[in-house]
Amino acid sequence: MSRVYLTRPLPEAVLTRARALFDEVEVRHDTAPLKIGQMRAALTLYDGVLPTLGDMFSAEVFRDAESPRCKVLANFGVGYNHIDVAAARAAGVMVTNTPGAVTDATADIAMTLILMSARRAGEGERLVRAGGWAGWHPTQMLGLHVTGKTVGIIGMGRIGQAIARRCHFGFGMNVIYYNRSEKDLGFDADRAETMQDLAAKADIVVVAVPGGVETHHLIGADLFSAMKPTAHFVNIARGDIVDEAALIAALGSGQIAGAGLDVYEHEPKVPDALRALENVVLLPHLGTAALEVREAMGLMAVENLSAALNGETPPNLIS
Ligand code: NAP
Repeated sequence: MSRVYLTRPLPEAVLTRARALFDEVEVRHDTAPLKIGQMRAALTLYDGVLPTLGDMFSAEVFRDAESPRCKVLANFGVGYNHIDVAAARAAGVMVTNTPGAVTDATADIAMTLILMSARRAGEGERLVRAGGWAGWHPTQMLGLHVTGKTVGIIGMGRIGQAIARRCHFGFGMNVIYYNRSEKDLGFDADRAETMQDLAAKADIVVVAVPGGVETHHLIGADLFSAMKPTAHFVNIARGDIVDEAALIAALGSGQIAGAGLDVYEHEPKVPDALRALENVVLLPHLGTAALEVREAMGLMAVENLSAALNGETPPNLIS
């Protein structure tokens, strides 16, 4: 008898697959993150749980959970910085994620933000909607020409590489990157020694490292002061990788030209100071927001649940 808990509404194809695999599937219809008591209850009531972004399975959640009924947290999403994997493991709970399923869609959102920020698309759209557009003229709303420029990618993993390919093959851009290890992209791309070196050379800086304790505030005033005043900054990874106050200061003072953000330090709270700035594009965490992508993520998470509950090693176990 297998009993699983899906902590959010999910696409129909995912629910159909889950119902075919498990005896009992409970779907939570609330779209807000789980509260600590709900997470503790989930550990005791179900054999497997499919959590997602915002469900903060911190060490505190597992503190009194001695050999809980739940054997696996099959996260819906590649980023799992909201789950304390070591604490879960110590309680006998496996953690899995959905790598690969999200790569292209998230890279596409990075391109959306690069183009929107560089070409001032958000600002232009607001102008037209406000009825304030007086008509075309040769020096109106000039932005940064993206084709042929240099993109600096911080974090050259699956998503970083997908962004690099789009920039190189689609826009004839020069790619430089900062990453823990050297990568072979199949085309020329220099690895910067430091983030500051990358920032000094790049016309567009894109963040694609995972969130978590290791990368908390990895990016702050030092990086922004090393960037060119004409450069743009894009974050599609996790909000708390960036010191948001330092970013607001850099945008407000003109230290950098603009930014495009899909994620925020205290999501879903977006500071008033950020919303008041014209030179920033703000998206509501749309990286993977397309039905077929959410289906692929859900099916992957359900296969991870199934493998774990059948006593097998789940394909996407975080070790
Ligand atoms: P990935 O394949 O694991 O790539 C992460 C890369 O970051 C790796 O190349 C890794 O280096 C590098 N890295 C990790 N820590 C680093 C550090 N401290 N300094 C420098 N480089 C570091 O992950 P991915 O699939 O590309 O996903 C990246 C992140 O994007 C996810 O963790 C998630 O938070 C975020 N994301 C956001 C959305 C959205 O909706 N906006 C959607 C999907 C994913 P090595 O290669 O040396 O290990």
